[in-house]
Amino acid sequence: MACDEYPMWIGGREVRSAKPRTVRVPFDGAPVGIVFEAEPVHVEEAVAAAKSAAPLMRSLTRDERSAILRRAHAAVSARREEFARAVSSESGKPIREGRLEAERASQTLLFASEEAHRLTGEVVPMDASPAGKGRWGMTVREPLGVIAAITPFNFPLNLSVHKIAPALAAGNAVVHKPASATPISGLLLARVLSECGLPDGALNVITGAGGEIGAHLAGHPDIAMITFTGSDSVGARLRLLAAEGRKRITLELGNNSALIVEPDGNLEEAVSRAVPGSYAHSGQVCISIQRIYVHRNVSSRFTEAFATAARALSIGHPFDETTEVSSLITEAEATRVAGWVEEAVRSGARMVGPSIHRQRATLGPVVLADVPEHAQVWRQEAFGPVAGINTYQTLDEAIERVNQSAYGLQAGIFTSDIGKAFAAAERVHVGGFLINDVPQFRVDQMPYGGVKLSGSGREGPKYAIEEMTEPKLITWRYPR
Ligand code: NAP
Repeated sequence: MACDEYPMWIGGREVRSAKPRTVRVPFDGAPVGIVFEAEPVHVEEAVAAAKSAAPLMRSLTRDERSAILRRAHAAVSARREEFARAVSSESGKPIREGRLEAERASQTLLFASEEAHRLTGEVVPMDASPAGKGRWGMTVREPLGVIAAITPFNFPLNLSVHKIAPALAAGNAVVHKPASATPISGLLLARVLSECGLPDGALNVITGAGGEIGAHLAGHPDIAMITFTGSDSVGARLRLLAAEGRKRITLELGNNSALIVEPDGNLEEAVSRAVPGSYAHSGQVCISIQRIYVHRNVSSRFTEAFATAARALSIGHPFDETTEVSSLITEAEATRVAGWVEEAVRSGARMVGPSIHRQRATLGPVVLADVPEHAQVWRQEAFGPVAGINTYQTLDEAIERVNQSAYGLQAGIFTSDIGKAFAAAERVHVGGFLINDVPQFRVDQMPYGGVKLSGSGREGPKYAIEEMTEPKLITWRYPR
């Protein structure tokens, strides 16, 4: 890819700073494009542009907002390959996954466009209370104003759309701060939305270090809401910032997803779903499978089939059509994950199969068995191509061990016993529970979000719009 410039997008125009920076393919360091590091003045300009566009966004009809998003859905779909290559080159995910992300982003825009039409309040039964006799009431949902959207590196397009599209559908204006490693997809998206008729200033994109530019943006007094996807450590900081500034906040954070495999579950399906569920994008998916609890009666069959399939995944450059596992986002991340694996092995985990394949930022799929549950690779979010397989004797025990995690985004079970499936669904403490599927499954219209350290609030356009609007009550006392 030619090394083009991707300036920031503020008030409907391109803005460069005095600090250019080259974005690189994590796999081999090849240049992708040049972006510009924001100064504090750019944060101020972006928030001011959004603030002045907010009244116009609020005044657009639902149909006008919906039409802009529908056109953007068609434009992203038509330019799928361009978006897929941007996503894959900056994030390092295999091109097949890049294409899937571009398709999903286009779908998410469509779902948001549909939700713009459906955005409504409710009739309030005022006379259900004796004092409400002779009154009629309703709620309308109003936009909040200016929303700060801060996004991570792993799905640089679709997770940006998950924040921007519902915010616009609801009549808000947005300032977006994408991850430093992957800013180009978000910058391209802003231009597409502008070409599709989005008013200048309704969406602004600033690029720069999270700890400086992101924190400045999140703490800005004119920001009404922060919508953040990323690590729980940054999320905890933003939670404090939001509390200080009395801002609304949605947090989509990490996980160490668990899968339970019961002896009556379909083992073949469990393996064929669990392998991509563990190693897609080198495990850098917030719902990537990390802890697999397999009933002891089927554990050796499961482990052997899983490890054989994991070993067969092809490792290579993200643009190679056959690649299934490419690199992590940085070499430092590969070193961290490999260190966690070594620590687990030192404390008693068994490495199933050959030792770790390691080259620059790339780490081959790692399968561990009998992992001590105090090891970092089990207890914390690994965010790498590592899955551990531990055994259990009773479903009660498995559920208890799943729930020992500090996280709670999604979990899953394979079983053919509907009673067991729903008992587990009721008792596992997570935001989403998947029966006969892996916790790594997501479609973009479903409510998505976590409990415990995995965050608060839900995404999926319908649910994000609820977070991004305020219900206003209007009552009417009719004359007697
Ligand atoms: P991250 O390091 O937390 O960064 C996320 C975003 O926050 C980036 O744009 C980053 O900017 C910015 N940031 C960093 N420090 C900040 C601060 N003090 N104030 C404001 N913004 C700040 O996360 P990541 O490594 O990009 O992404 C991986 C994490 O995201 C994992 O934990 C994963 O589980 C989570 N995730 C969750 C979901 C979900 O839906 N629950 C989905 C995807 C990913 P810089 O890049 O410039 O540092």
